[in-house]
Amino acid sequence: MNVLVINCGSSSLKYQVINSDTEQVLAKGLCERIGIDGRLVYTPAGGEKEISNLDMPTHKQAIQYVIDALTNEKTGVIKSLDEIGAVGHRLVHGGEKFACSTLITEDVIKAVEECSDLAPLHNPANLIGVRACQELMPNTPMAGVFDTAFHQTMPLEAYMYGIPYEYYEKYKIRKYGFHGTSHSFVSKRTAELLGKPIENLKIIVCHLGNGSSVCAVNGGKSVDTSMGLSPLEGLIMGTRSGDIDPSVMEFICKKENMDINGIMDVLNKKSGVQGLSGVSSDFRDLQAGAADGNKRCEMAVDVFCYRVLKYIGAYVAAMNGVDAIAFTAGLGENDEIVRRKIVSRLGYLGITLDEEANENGRGKEIAISTPDSKVPVWIVPTNEELAIARETVALLK
Ligand code: AMP
Repeated sequence: MNVLVINCGSSSLKYQVINSDTEQVLAKGLCERIGIDGRLVYTPAGGEKEISNLDMPTHKQAIQYVIDALTNEKTGVIKSLDEIGAVGHRLVHGGEKFACSTLITEDVIKAVEECSDLAPLHNPANLIGVRACQELMPNTPMAGVFDTAFHQTMPLEAYMYGIPYEYYEKYKIRKYGFHGTSHSFVSKRTAELLGKPIENLKIIVCHLGNGSSVCAVNGGKSVDTSMGLSPLEGLIMGTRSGDIDPSVMEFICKKENMDINGIMDVLNKKSGVQGLSGVSSDFRDLQAGAADGNKRCEMAVDVFCYRVLKYIGAYVAAMNGVDAIAFTAGLGENDEIVRRKIVSRLGYLGITLDEEANENGRGKEIAISTPDSKVPVWIVPTNEELAIARETVALLK
């Protein structure tokens, strides 16, 4: 079966068509600047990337362009929409309502809408994508795969904040965690690579990209993760601050004459390694800057790595041990300097970095710890779209 995987944001939409039998990607791309002007990027497997500027006033129009590209006589990969057996939607926040993926019904849409105040930027945008697909493909089954669902196994002690309990009761304020699809995929794959049942393993997954989070996976279940009610908590990220003393917010607001929206904008969009370096949120720029002697670039990378190191230590404690550590996502898979700065400080776990594997391991499934290390450390590339396609097919069976 072919599955159309959709990851819909407020003005952009990423898509892939995956054949679930072979797990091959037939085509992928994105629509950008929806509601502004519009740009379609379309890449069929083995073909050239096509970029077209198109008028995209709505998400429905954007998805129509995707369908046109997929069924185009010359460069299309399917003859008609009948060849799409299901659509898998990435949905960001399922609150406490969704502990697993689900087939999308009107009740599910209502429940996701009810979680929207927990993810005001993401959930409504995700649902616009669902509605648009429903209008264009009314008879095709659709699944929702939540970023938060994998973390619903966290114990109470891990997800409660130390604030008045009534806020949990009234508003469900607690840690939820994100990147669940990736943490689930990577932890399963790590167990396969180790040739051991995941039920017997304690794995720490470091998903390091523009957004970053660490997850403690005990016996295949998420028991703690660094992101919280929103993706702002935890690690330092491209432009997000991660953990800070909440008093910093009041202090900056007073000094800079800012309101809550202003400070949230600073913490989400102007902080992280971008804010620290003053140069870029992209680690390629930071590493180039550091190599040229830019001290703030070097500091930003060091502060980022130190925060990851601390979370690894915390999760070793939380699980009373660790059997494997996996690095994934844009940085985790590609940036050997970041991996070295973190892994070379894990000697207390009996881990030694295999320098050669680390340098040559870019984007591969490869162990980057020496064979005599007590805890294996791996690069395990993530594939959230494939995970969504698998979940979608599983729900239809
Ligand atoms: P993601 O959010 O997973 O797509 O990761 C994006 C981030 O990964 C970018 O902002 C870069 O900082 C980083 N990244 C991607 N490719 C490389 C690379 N070849 N070397 C270093 N960093 C990279």
